[in-house]
Amino acid sequence: MTDLAESPAPPVAASAPCPSPAVAAGRSLAETTRARNAWIEIDIEALEHNLCALRAAVGAGCETVAVIKGNAYGAGIEGVAPVLEAAGVERFGVAWVSEGVQLRGLGIRRPIIVLGHSFPEDAPTAVAHDLTLTCHSLGLGHALSAAAVRAGRVARVHIHIDSGLHRDGVSLDEGVALAEALRDLPGLAVEGISTHMANADEPDDSFSDAQAALFRAATERLPWVPYRHTANSATALRRAGLRFEGVRIGLALHGILPSNTPGPALRPILSVKARLARVSDIPEGDGVSYGLTWRAERPSRAGLVPVGYADGWSRHLGNRGEVLVRGRRCPVIGRVMMDQFVVDVTALPAAEEGDEVVLLGAQGGDAIRADEVAEAAGTIPWDTFASLTARLPRVFHRAGVVERLTGG
Ligand SMILES: *Cc1c(COP(=O)(O)O)cnc(C)c1O
Repeated sequence: MTDLAESPAPPVAASAPCPSPAVAAGRSLAETTRARNAWIEIDIEALEHNLCALRAAVGAGCETVAVIKGNAYGAGIEGVAPVLEAAGVERFGVAWVSEGVQLRGLGIRRPIIVLGHSFPEDAPTAVAHDLTLTCHSLGLGHALSAAAVRAGRVARVHIHIDSGLHRDGVSLDEGVALAEALRDLPGLAVEGISTHMANADEPDDSFSDAQAALFRAATERLPWVPYRHTANSATALRRAGLRFEGVRIGLALHGILPSNTPGPALRPILSVKARLARVSDIPEGDGVSYGLTWRAERPSRAGLVPVGYADGWSRHLGNRGEVLVRGRRCPVIGRVMMDQFVVDVTALPAAEEGDEVVLLGAQGGDAIRADEVAEAAGTIPWDTFASLTARLPRVFHRAGVVERLTGG
């Protein structure tokens, strides 16, 4: 039993979509999802387990920076962030200033590092919400300093060194010069220095050695900068020497390890489920879905799944993906459409409207994992998760008892 007094529903904005989290809290999953086309389930206990297992794996003395950009990798930032903060995550990482503002709006109090790009115009917002920006220019530094002085606060910044990924950041020499210039500005504290690995989850990650050498050279020239971080999930687990003060963990919190990365036993936190909308007969020789790219080689039964690429279910899964119905794998037949796709349920004569369809997650003794779906779609699990859109309600539950329902 969940004691609702112990896990109060969050405050609901006046414009929140119906039903509010409070309406669903305490109900069973089955009740909450009975008459829904499709939804996402988030297993709160699995998330807590993964955090705990990952913290044990990286060891004490190293902070967890939970990376929850992209709506917490599709899982739903409103539900994921409070759970992680309560479970002891020391910091959060996001990509955009607006994501940091959203976290503060959710009541998150821990430090928030904006890992992505910010403009000088973002400075007042960053100061007002106590966001730690990644600073790549003197212009941004001056704007932050001015905003901080005006507000009577201290703006913390991190300097990101481009050590070979050639994406964001500044070069070693630029980074050292920038840090030294920012050090003297009022209201500004250069708190961190970071980099990001290019081949973290490649079979051969030896390039991380070259990147680490460059990063260490930067830290040696900036010994007064206290917080160093270089590691995503893969680097954190593969490279004990590159953990420094904090590790930036995203994917592994979701229970999926990056390729070529050994790690503790994790539990997938996210399932995508739907209800079968219609079951119909397809005469031999007839086609299914746009372009009629699939043809029935025998009289067949088609099950309609009310999920499509508008939900983030990749069009590349047409004629490739599989789902679980009544504990059995059923192949996707024909193209995935914007709001629907069709599966072959010929082997399930009892299949009917309302049956649970598992697109991602477990059913019966079988499970479909994000890495499997990603591979079928020709992509990576990060993309499969982050693609999941707002139309799918997010149902956060603890052992089947709903604690929060958002969206939908
Ligand atoms: C997204 C991101 C991470 C998290 O990576 P995972 O592989 O999901 O753990 C870490 N660091 C930076 C800079 C990122 O952009």
